[in-house]
Amino acid sequence: MKFFISLLLWLVAIPIFSQSKISIALQSFNNFPSSYIDSIKTGIEQKYGKVKLIVLPNKKLPTSAYYKPRNRYRAEKILTFLDTLVTGDTKIVGLTTLDISTTNGKYKDWGIFGLGEINARPCVVSTFRLKKKNVSSRLFIQRLVKIVNHELGHTFGFEHCPFYNCLMEDAKGTIKTVDKSDGNFCKKCRILLMNHVF
Ligand SMILES: [Zn+2]
Ligand SMILES: [Zn+2]
Repeated sequence: MKFFISLLLWLVAIPIFSQSKISIALQSFNNFPSSYIDSIKTGIEQKYGKVKLIVLPNKKLPTSAYYKPRNRYRAEKILTFLDTLVTGDTKIVGLTTLDISTTNGKYKDWGIFGLGEINARPCVVSTFRLKKKNVSSRLFIQRLVKIVNHELGHTFGFEHCPFYNCLMEDAKGTIKTVDKSDGNFCKKCRILLMNHVF
């Protein structure tokens, strides 16, 4: 039993790709603060290991994604744009402070924290919904890193996980889900990711 527990702790503690050849590009949009980028880079490395991180020059959000009725940007259109910026197996994370949305069941235009395409290159994260109610900068950065790692998880092939507190749990539109997670994959997701052939 002790062995089982320590093995479990070991599985949770180490980054997943210790000798990784995976490349992840970070694409900031508009006025996204460069100071957040370092925290995001550290957070990705803590979760995914020594991946090759590329910081691309800042760009404007594509006008094709703008949704005038709500003054925000359609996330799936941002993903389409991001996908044109990289090739091969490189993943790309779009980062914006502006509000993003997608269609969610009966809601035609639903504001979201982020969106990642399953088993594909792009994902996008918005800080717009992470700063409400005077959150501390520490909590804000924790939220941002968890959401980046969650959306990256989708690009590595993961759908939502039913296990409580898993990084891949569906936030279901509430920041409480993000806050209660410790930012780790559950054992099942972790093993699946470690066995993933890239
Ligand atoms: Zn998700
Ligand atoms: Zn899981």
